[in-house]
Amino acid sequence: MFDYDVAVIGLGPAGSTFARLAADSMKVFALSRPVGEGGFSKPCGGLLSSDAQKALSRFDLTLPKDILVDPQIFSVRTIDLKSGLIRHYQRFYINLDRDRFDSWMASLIPNSADIVRGVCRSIKRLEKGGFEIAYTDSEGEKRITARYVVGADGANSAVRKSLFPQKKFRSYVSIQQWFDEKNDSPFYSCIFDPDTSDSCSWSISKDGKFIFGGAFAPENCREMFELQKQKLSEKFGFKFGVPVKTEACMVLRPKTLADFCTGENGAFLIGEAAGFISPSSFEGVSWAINSARLLAQAIAAQNPNKSYHRLTRTIRLKLLLKRLKCPFMYHPLLRRWVMKSGLQTIEVTPTQRRPLE
Ligand SMILES: Cc1cc2nc3c(=O)[nH]c(=O)nc-3n(C[C@H](O)[C@H](O)[C@H](O)COP(=O)(O)OP(=O)(O)OC[C@H]3O[C@@H](n4cnc5c(N)ncnc54)[C@H](O)[C@@H]3O)c2cc1C
Repeated sequence: MFDYDVAVIGLGPAGSTFARLAADSMKVFALSRPVGEGGFSKPCGGLLSSDAQKALSRFDLTLPKDILVDPQIFSVRTIDLKSGLIRHYQRFYINLDRDRFDSWMASLIPNSADIVRGVCRSIKRLEKGGFEIAYTDSEGEKRITARYVVGADGANSAVRKSLFPQKKFRSYVSIQQWFDEKNDSPFYSCIFDPDTSDSCSWSISKDGKFIFGGAFAPENCREMFELQKQKLSEKFGFKFGVPVKTEACMVLRPKTLADFCTGENGAFLIGEAAGFISPSSFEGVSWAINSARLLAQAIAAQNPNKSYHRLTRTIRLKLLLKRLKCPFMYHPLLRRWVMKSGLQTIEVTPTQRRPLE
């Protein structure tokens, strides 16, 4: 009756995980834009958190070393721009190349799934049930039908916008720029500046490049981004130079239960498309993988939408609990108090570097 049991739109960590798991028992169509040069690169810090490492370890997955980048960093330099306070905190991230990570995750999808590199143009609910998906690939416009559709297409999800247009999410604009590394030693930082954003910014060094990015309210986002760069270079010695790449995208920041949408009537949302991203740190890979795993579990149930919604209750609760952390990170007085207290900070003594022999 349908061409496929399920159509997955988007092969980031969420879509690739779901397609890999579902392909064992279902006929899967997976559509996503090409990755990397000339295609789509997800603007991302490319830091794999310990939660994401745990999510991968549930599948006994280990990372190939060519996904890693140089250097691996063990602490975050936290900077309060307004008060000038700087503190270092230990972190257990893996520094990786996001394009290569996405390609690797997609490579794990079994051959039984049909993977198409193209762009989803529309999703239509059919009267008889199921969905028609129109897309373009290198050969032109095509259509397929599927019993279920899974929106794994990120913050700006076309699936969510087509099928749940009434859903409104709290969103920010994330801007990232890449520079040739000119700083004396590579570092990872997290920056707070209430004058330019009620969110945070970050920098990370990767394979000879220095990346600076931040999340901003949509109004004047570019101006505020440039202002932060100026302050960081004037007051904190950040070395930017001429950007080699500028990228921007929408990023969601869930605040209430209404900021999540798991789908209805045969349509499902996973990963960031569902609003599953940390509102405090913008860590999203673990939630993407975990929500995909839960949907793969739920989709065989008699009422898969109900089952998926129930299974993701813990995700929603954990993300809302992360909101409780926000005042201590984002309220200027509380943040200053936490930073001044020295709680969990580490003392850092810079080391002179010499080239390896
Ligand atoms: C600037 C920034 C930095 C971040 N840094 C980190 C970090 O360091 N660590 C971390 O854990 N999280 C980070 N996040 C969050 C993380 O990137 C996301 O939460 C995570 O990628 C969500 O995974 P996903 O699979 O749900 O969606 P995505 O990774 O966004 O994947 C969506 C996929 O859908 C495809 N797609 C979208 N629309 C279409 C369409 N119309 N047709 C075909 N394909 C489509 C895209 O090509 C993409 O492959 C960051 C986010 C931002 C914005």
